[in-house]
Amino acid sequence: MKTTHILCHYSEIGLKGKNRSYFENTLKRNIHDALNVTVPNAIDKIEKLRGRFLISLSESNTNSIDSILSTLENRFGLAYFAPAVKIHPDLDSMKLSALEILKDITFDTFRITARRSDPYLPYSSQKINEEIGAEIVSKLKKTVNLSNPEATCYIDMLQEGTFVYTQKISGPGGLPVGVSGKVGVMLSGGIDSPVAAYYAMKRGASPLYIHFHSVPHVSPASIEKVRETVQLLTKFHLRAKLYIIEFSPVQDEIFANANPKLLVLHYRRCMIRISENIIKKEKAKALVTGEALGQVASQTIENMTVVEDAGIHTILRPLVGFDKQEIIEVAKKIGTYDISIQPHEDCCTLFVPKHPAIKARIKDVLESENNCNLEPLIENAVNTAQVETFQ
Ligand code: ATP
Ligand code: MG
Repeated sequence: MKTTHILCHYSEIGLKGKNRSYFENTLKRNIHDALNVTVPNAIDKIEKLRGRFLISLSESNTNSIDSILSTLENRFGLAYFAPAVKIHPDLDSMKLSALEILKDITFDTFRITARRSDPYLPYSSQKINEEIGAEIVSKLKKTVNLSNPEATCYIDMLQEGTFVYTQKISGPGGLPVGVSGKVGVMLSGGIDSPVAAYYAMKRGASPLYIHFHSVPHVSPASIEKVRETVQLLTKFHLRAKLYIIEFSPVQDEIFANANPKLLVLHYRRCMIRISENIIKKEKAKALVTGEALGQVASQTIENMTVVEDAGIHTILRPLVGFDKQEIIEVAKKIGTYDISIQPHEDCCTLFVPKHPAIKARIKDVLESENNCNLEPLIENAVNTAQVETFQ
């Protein structure tokens, strides 16, 4: 049977008290905008019903159903959605469409799950379950199994219409992108930071991306990787801005004058300062990094504290509790892994000693930083940032 509608259920939004309609409207707009880009003209309208959305597909465009479903799979805030067929709310139509829709799938055991939220319909959910169940048993020769069926035929009787479906597709959960405000995601070209971006978006943050490169000391490979990554991440969030920052003048100054054991921490502190200038301009509220506790020398609590001390904004680290292998699995799932593993030279491993400080003290870092003249270089890095947009 041809899908005419999609019923969308959202996850935590329902718990948000007074903010509820703001969350719902953001999700509705996100769904609308995304479908408009991926499958233009495929939908007639999206209605907000009690506790769910109803998407009406346009008649001419029901062939784009696969693209519509894969677009919905990437909309944070959706718990699940069901491609459905709208039918007349009488018993005969229900029997006929249950038969039709179940003929499309393979199964031996089944159940009917009718739910009535329209109090004006004359039959109870139980009566519908029994009558339609009996019809399927006699016409399709299948067996009822209420506790563990291979197929379930749902019949939702809403005031807006009666809908039949057999498939519930999981959404990504989380909160709609945008409801938590804007953040600056520091994107390195490695495996971790795109996954951090994913989890920040999952909790409703709307990202702008910042990348530091060390061209001409290294090849521009990391820039290209980051561009590709940002392009890929637009499947979760339609429009993205990427700030590309030339970092080598800052690095040269640090390398020439700072304590060699503290180089990476100085680089990171400067990245934070430059990023703070950018997010201030963009009215973003926090920075996001792909750090995980203890993963490398710069990611001990002591060293994170030294880096964080360079700025005033909140730093979110969505991967703090992840093992590397877990991060890799998510990177593969969201599709960033293959881009991230392309070779590139990391700007922070340039000219770095074999034994960097594991537990640096802020006093030593400030002392070493005093030997460098960083302010004008930081200002210049901000002013010469290259900004690109992705859709
Ligand atoms: P990733 O896999 O994200 O590169 P990593 O495990 O290599 O992370 P580090 O190199 O210590 O870790 O970097 C920690 C975090 O600092 C990164 O996840 C990223 O958020 C930020 N960062 C590091 N280098 C850069 C860079 N060149 N541009 C932007 N952000 C960076
Ligand atoms: Mg890295």
